[in-house]
Amino acid sequence: RRLDSRSGAPSGLLSVIQTAISTEPVESVYDMTGELGRGKFAVVKRCVDKATGKVFAAKFLRKRRRGRDCRAEVIHEMAVLEMARSNPRVVNLHAAYETDHDIILVLEYAAGGEIFDHCVSDEMLAEVQITRLIRQTLEGVHQLHQNNLVHLDLKPQNILLTSLSPPGDIKIVDFGLARRLGAGGELREILGTPEYVAPEILNYEPITTATDLWSVGVISYMLVTGESPFAGDDKQETYLNVSQVNVDYSREAFSRVSELAVDFIRTLLVKTPEDRPSAAECLSHPWLWQQFCLSPEPPSSRPVRERSCGTKWAAPTEDPEDKE
Ligand code: ADP
Ligand code: MG
Repeated sequence: RRLDSRSGAPSGLLSVIQTAISTEPVESVYDMTGELGRGKFAVVKRCVDKATGKVFAAKFLRKRRRGRDCRAEVIHEMAVLEMARSNPRVVNLHAAYETDHDIILVLEYAAGGEIFDHCVSDEMLAEVQITRLIRQTLEGVHQLHQNNLVHLDLKPQNILLTSLSPPGDIKIVDFGLARRLGAGGELREILGTPEYVAPEILNYEPITTATDLWSVGVISYMLVTGESPFAGDDKQETYLNVSQVNVDYSREAFSRVSELAVDFIRTLLVKTPEDRPSAAECLSHPWLWQQFCLSPEPPSSRPVRERSCGTKWAAPTEDPEDKE
C-alpha cells in the first residue's frame, strides 16, 4: 500500500474532524453492558448513557497496531462517518473519547445485529425481506458514492439491522477501509476480506465505486443461498475463485430463489468493474421490486401495482413498503 513518506501512514486519509475527542473516562458517562462484536483492532461494546438511559455502541479502536501509531487511521474513520452523517443508511457517530490505548467511537446502536446471522441461520429470510434489505443497502451505497466515498469492506458482518425480528432497517458500519475518491492519486490495494474482495483489488488495479457493487453482489448471493460464493478451503483457493469469478449458480444452490435474483447477482459479479451497474442502476432492477408480484393479497385487493415484473430494468417509482 502507498505510504506517506513522512509518517509511514497510508496516504489519502482524511484528517479533519468536527467531533470533539474527550479525554474524560468513557465509563464515567456510559455503563458498559457487554460485547457486541470484535475485529482485529477493535472491540465494540453495548453501552448505556447514565444520564439519559439511551443505548449506544462503543467501538474501542486501538491506536497502536503492529507497533505502529494508527491514530491517523482512526481519525480518518471518524471523518468518513462525519461525511456520511446525513446518510440514513450509515450508523451515526455520537461522540468520541480517548485513552492512552484507544480512541472510542460512541455510535448509534443497531439492535438487530449483523445481517450475517441471516446468511448462516437455518431459517433464511424471505425474499421480500432480502430485496428490501438490498434496496436499503444500495440506497446507502448510492449516497456514499455521490459523496465520492467508497466503503471497500462491505460484507454481511458490516451491515447491521436496527431490530432483529421483524428485521428492521439496515445500518452500514465499519468505515476503517473506506476512502475518498479523487482526493489526488489513484487508489489501489486496500485489502478487505478475501471472500468479499473484488477481482480488481487482487489484480492491483485502480479501485472505483464499482468495487462496492461487487460486494453487494456477494452479500445478495449470501442472503439468498446461505452460502459464500467464493469461499474456498484456504485463502489461495478463495483468491482463485474470485479472480476467475467462479460462481455456482446451479439449481441446487438456488433451489428456492427466483430467476430475477440470479439475474441481479449475475450482473454484479462480473470481473470488469466498468461492466457492473452503478448503485442507482441496480436500484431499478426488477428483482428489487418484485414483491408486488408475489403479494399474498387476494387478486381483488391487489391494485395497479403489478407493473415492472416482466420489464427489465424498469425505473422504480416509489416503494409503498418503505414509508420514509
Ligand atoms: P471491525 O473494524 O473490527 O470489523 P466493526 O465496526 O465492523 O469493527 O464492528 C465489529 C462488530 O461489532 C460488527 O460486525 C457488529 O457485530 C458490531 N457492531 C459494530 N457497530 C455496531 C453498532 N453501531 N451497533 C451494534 N453492533 C455494532
Ligand atoms: Mg467489521
